[in-house]
Amino acid sequence: MGNFQYDVMIVGAGAAGISCALVLGSALKKPYAENRKVGILLHHRNSHLNSALLNNAFGIAPGTNGRELLEKSITHLEELYPDVELIQKEKAKEILSQAEGFQLTTNKNVYTSERIVIATGYTSPIRIKGMEEYVIPHQKAKVEKARIQLRNVDHLVAKGLYVAGTLAGWRSQYSIAAGSGAAVATDILTEWNNGEHSKIHDKLA
Ligand SMILES: Cc1cc2nc3c(=O)[nH]c(=O)nc-3n(C[C@H](O)[C@H](O)[C@H](O)COP(=O)(O)OP(=O)(O)OC[C@H]3O[C@@H](n4cnc5c(N)ncnc54)[C@H](O)[C@@H]3O)c2cc1C
Repeated sequence: MGNFQYDVMIVGAGAAGISCALVLGSALKKPYAENRKVGILLHHRNSHLNSALLNNAFGIAPGTNGRELLEKSITHLEELYPDVELIQKEKAKEILSQAEGFQLTTNKNVYTSERIVIATGYTSPIRIKGMEEYVIPHQKAKVEKARIQLRNVDHLVAKGLYVAGTLAGWRSQYSIAAGSGAAVATDILTEWNNGEHSKIHDKLA
């Protein structure tokens, strides 16, 4: 892992962030992921899911309460993939790019991570110092809503810095945001696997 506290730190625990954590968590037993450390800032108070009623998302029972879904997903992550470190009640304040990796400052601590996945949603303005240079108007939302995204190519903002979910420029639908988080996770797994494409599938016996 080098000199970093984390291999990956996920910032933002909504549809995209939790989905990314689930796929990374499911890979931690693979040989290429041995000793890798993944953390997620579990801040979820501001997730748009908290006010959503889901009727149109694949695999989700119609009438699902978004807030309950979010809580269940966090329990799912905690129980199935306990190696992912859940960092409670901390909010990112600053992400500083260093010669290698990043320094992440929250309201309580300072961490270092080789990679960062930022999934804090498309609400303006961005409140994380160090990210301003990447912010552009959202390309797939109504102009009058003044939504934002980070400039990226296939979720990659800069070396080691990924964006997922609505902040990546995707339209706001649950399954798009969750898919975006999962896509970033598989990109990171592929890097850990020396560029050999990687995904995690469990199979029926
Ligand atoms: C009223 C409403 C109804 C909806 N209905 C539907 C629907 O019927 N069907 C559908 O498909 N979609 C629906 N959606 C959309 C869906 O909820 C969003 O598309 C989805 O939640 C976006 O996921 P995300 O991960 O990009 O952002 P979010 O889920 O909003 O998550 C962002 C996360 O980042 C955290 N965060 C923010 N700042 C920081 C920080 N500085 N540090 C750490 N964490 C931070 C927040 O607390 C939050 O948990 C609805 C949304 C709303 C608002």
